[in-house]
Amino acid sequence: MTDCPTPLTSLPRPECDARAELPAALVPLVAKLAPAEFRQQDRLQRELRCVVECDHAGPHHGLVMDLDGVDTGSVWARWRTGTAPAAVVVLADCDAASVDGMEACGEFAGHPGAHSWQLENPWTATPA
Ligand SMILES: [Zn+2]
Ligand SMILES: [Zn+2]
Repeated sequence: MTDCPTPLTSLPRPECDARAELPAALVPLVAKLAPAEFRQQDRLQRELRCVVECDHAGPHHGLVMDLDGVDTGSVWARWRTGTAPAAVVVLADCDAASVDGMEACGEFAGHPGAHSWQLENPWTATPA
């Protein structure tokens, strides 16, 4: 997990970035949750990383699969630190957009913490 710097108001905030692997036993469940017409089997993510703001409350959330289509939401895996994901769920997409309308939030509706455009993505951040 990423260390969470203080002050808590400084932007951008780091993502939690907790890692987990989707257990093979949950893969068929993803197929069940994803309607065939929206399924993108080749885009199933087994290497999960939590995209919520660092130091968030509640379980970690890693994106398993984006579902095609409008208002279809996405498949997410939830887990607690030190445990493997035990469940996958379909959650609606966060419908917030940045003030200039240029960026949509990549997290799920009702997520804790900052929206994704306020977070520093460790995969895209350029090293200082
Ligand atoms: Zn997390
Ligand atoms: Zn959001």
